[in-house]
Amino acid sequence: MPENIIWRPTTVTRLERSNQNGHKSAVLWFTGLSGSGKSTIAHAVEEKLFQIGCQTVVLDGDNVRHGLCADLGFSDQDRTENIRRIGETTKLFVEAGIITLTAFISPFGADREKVRNLFMPGEFLEIHCRCALDCCEQRDVKGFYQKARAGEIKEFTGISSPYEAPENPELVLHTDQSSVEECVQKVMHLLQQRCIIPFD
Ligand code: ADP
Repeated sequence: MPENIIWRPTTVTRLERSNQNGHKSAVLWFTGLSGSGKSTIAHAVEEKLFQIGCQTVVLDGDNVRHGLCADLGFSDQDRTENIRRIGETTKLFVEAGIITLTAFISPFGADREKVRNLFMPGEFLEIHCRCALDCCEQRDVKGFYQKARAGEIKEFTGISSPYEAPENPELVLHTDQSSVEECVQKVMHLLQQRCIIPFD
């Protein structure tokens, strides 16, 4: 921590924010291969939460790389810095009382663990979108797998760069077996179980 920089605590407390909002804030950290459904599910869950009046935001991989992380590439070092910045940004949103959904491959367990450690126990919910590589490759939503197989994209997760699956995620979604709607229901149920949002 640099000298002469002093943390200024907020005067509006987390409790006051959650009382006003009618829900607590938390991070729903979606992780998984490209095409595993992180973005689809994050946005679908956000819609459901928005409909019931929750304060929400989605941070999505590609969008963040247009601005906040536009200077970063896909080397191991840059991926680590990408996740660090997103973790810190997520923390700001969570402190503002917002349910924050993030959709990043976030392939390295150590990087995800560092983000988890920014939060109080129970605030960081790691959700593994588990989908067989074959299935992601068949979907090839953005045409990236074909390019990666052809060697046109280097360091592509699952092909030429590793993906470390979470060891103890709060939730595993089998996105190659369940429908989007079933996955969304599981996430909503998790939020109720963890008392982030009220039961219906
Ligand atoms: P990611 O954000 O992980 O790269 P996307 O959400 O962009 O993945 O793409 C996932 C694709 O898989 C979408 O075209 C989506 O419609 C499809 N899909 C099929 N079944 C599911 C499911 N159960 N969950 C999420 N996506 C699914």
